[in-house]
Amino acid sequence: MEAETRQCQNCKQDFTIEPDDFNFYEKMKVPPPTWCPECRVIRRFSFQNTWNLFWRNCDKCGKRTLSLYSPEQKITVYCQPCWWKDDWDGTEYGMDYDPTRPFLEQIKELGEKTPYSALTSEYVSNKNCNYANALAWSKDCFMIFWADFCENVYYSSLLNTLKHSIDCIRGYFSELCYESIGLGKCYRTFFPKNATIVLTSGFLEIVMAVLIVWLA
Ligand SMILES: [Zn+2]
Ligand SMILES: [Zn+2]
Repeated sequence: MEAETRQCQNCKQDFTIEPDDFNFYEKMKVPPPTWCPECRVIRRFSFQNTWNLFWRNCDKCGKRTLSLYSPEQKITVYCQPCWWKDDWDGTEYGMDYDPTRPFLEQIKELGEKTPYSALTSEYVSNKNCNYANALAWSKDCFMIFWADFCENVYYSSLLNTLKHSIDCIRGYFSELCYESIGLGKCYRTFFPKNATIVLTSGFLEIVMAVLIVWLA
């Protein structure tokens, strides 16, 4: 089978389906895609929003709260303090399953009447991390996403046990790092990519070298 160019039914751009792709669809017994790869990625990733936050009012206490749901979305959203309180009963939104009706239709109904948490953080385990999302067991952090066990970390994402660091992505068990991508067990590390077990690198070394030349 030869490669074929098709028009995406969503964005109307042309995209190519390679022979290997056709073989794969045949093997999986599924029809070839009608959307281009980029539109398909957007559709796959749209099931959850982590990084884009909006202001909206809590549907329980009325206070303004940061949320991963925009105010235009017609769903019930509780701020984190309200969501984690014991003064409401989630079972009151429960529905009996009706086997004579389509399952997805019933799931949609359930989703529309059940309150959502404004953010996906484990609010009760965090301290002073109100401007962040999808994090747990963290303290004094700002604008960090998908993180656990972090302290004094700002503008960073995909983290576990990162401390006193800024502008990092994928950081684990590291401390005092800046603008780093892919960190593991690093200390005082600046501007590295995919670094593991690094003690003091980058900027400080440059400063030291300049000082040594200057003093000589
Ligand atoms: Zn497209
Ligand atoms: Zn509230």
